[in-house]
Amino acid sequence: MNEALQPKTLVMKFGGTSVGTPHAVSEVVKIVRNALRDWERVVVVTSALSGVTNQLLDSARAAATGDVRLFQATANTLRQRHLDMIDDLIQETARQAQVKYEIEHLVEDFSNFCQAISVLGEASSRALDAVAALGERMSVRILSEALESAGITAQMVEATRVIVTDDHYQSANPLLSETRQQTQEVLNPILESGSVPVVTGFIAATRQGTTATLGRGGSDYSAAILAVSIPADEVWIWTDVDGVMSADPRRVPEACTIPVLTFKEVGELAYFGAKVLHPKTIRPVIEAGIGLKVRNTFHPNHPGTRIIADQHTTNGMAAPDSVVKAVTLISGLSLVTLEGRGMLGVPGVAARTFEAVAATGTSVPLISQASSEQSICFAAPLEVVPEIIQALEGIFAREIGRRDIDRVWATEEVVILTAVGEGMRHTPGVAGRIFTALGKLGVNVIAIAQGSSEVSISLVVDAVDADTGLRALHELVKNCTDR
Ligand code: ASP
Ligand code: MG
Repeated sequence: MNEALQPKTLVMKFGGTSVGTPHAVSEVVKIVRNALRDWERVVVVTSALSGVTNQLLDSARAAATGDVRLFQATANTLRQRHLDMIDDLIQETARQAQVKYEIEHLVEDFSNFCQAISVLGEASSRALDAVAALGERMSVRILSEALESAGITAQMVEATRVIVTDDHYQSANPLLSETRQQTQEVLNPILESGSVPVVTGFIAATRQGTTATLGRGGSDYSAAILAVSIPADEVWIWTDVDGVMSADPRRVPEACTIPVLTFKEVGELAYFGAKVLHPKTIRPVIEAGIGLKVRNTFHPNHPGTRIIADQHTTNGMAAPDSVVKAVTLISGLSLVTLEGRGMLGVPGVAARTFEAVAATGTSVPLISQASSEQSICFAAPLEVVPEIIQALEGIFAREIGRRDIDRVWATEEVVILTAVGEGMRHTPGVAGRIFTALGKLGVNVIAIAQGSSEVSISLVVDAVDADTGLRALHELVKNCTDR
């Protein structure tokens, strides 16, 4: 079909809390009904009911250690919760009975899998995927029947029929051309018949047909893969917050939704721990030119956050009010410093330092070295610092003996504050404003790091200054719509 004639297609993914209660599902039904007014074709992707994937995996892991009581108890809880949802959401008796029968069957599969795991005394990642997949296989049935019950023609699809992956269980990688072919083959006829496909998120199957999952939180990724394969015009990720926030609202009461974020900005936020979108979701969607939004099921009139490829700038300058878009914090760190006059001009000190750190299995969130080369410092989680210091003293024993390196030491607890915003690249004076904001409140900056991409700037401050510092930085965020 000619691209231009392709009907407008929307993929909507609903997270666990959006399908976690009968009330939430009734909100989802309204959202789908509204979407069908504006879009010719709507595809729904669903997570498991909130908390279910954790319960399934906890039970399977416990079974592997010989504990059979947890899965038995979980089977009862899961059965009850899903059957209650059916009572609330599905009107017609025959349909109710059918869905209940299917849920009973899936719960039985769960018990059987766990029983087998307990006999083997081991849960392979392939077995864990078979168990984890049950959450979505249950929720998808309830959601599609709830839509039907509300008069919306819907059809349940298990993504094992559409998303084809390699056999990297627990974080399988989609094989895109096969997935595209399967997706079109399965979803097109459903869409053409005027029905809404309701697809399980998170799960997929290998070429051999074995169930695999895309990794925890992977339903967002499922929506992205399907959107690229159909292809869709937009993907909306429905969750329980108003989009991506400018800061953690528990720490910064003034935090608000960021209306527009670029691809790179979300990348920086994901790295610094803002958990709104599964990190693999964004790239394929943006690269395919598909619109991406994060919205709140419980606040459907809120526009949420839109994610775009690039910042729209005038003459290369960002609008001055959209320079810093979000601020984040990582706590529980210490700053480790290696210092000595003999380090100047000696190649290989940094390489050896980070090799030693890597050998402890630690990933380093921030590194800083000034051109004087008198010291090199980096942040690391507090609990691994003694091990890191010991490793460094070991590999640099000779340099320490010669006094080329004077000492290796670590600070008390520090935090990293990060300001994120692609507009910083084109805007002079941002660092100045940041230091002024912190200085006014007496927050001392211990170290700074800015990537050459200039999408973010990170500052290390003492842990006691964490909240003051974060709020001071947040004062520079001016782009919130809902203030
Ligand atoms: N249910 C899966 C999980 O909890 C996938 C998802 O919710 O995105 O990880
Ligand atoms: Mg999720």
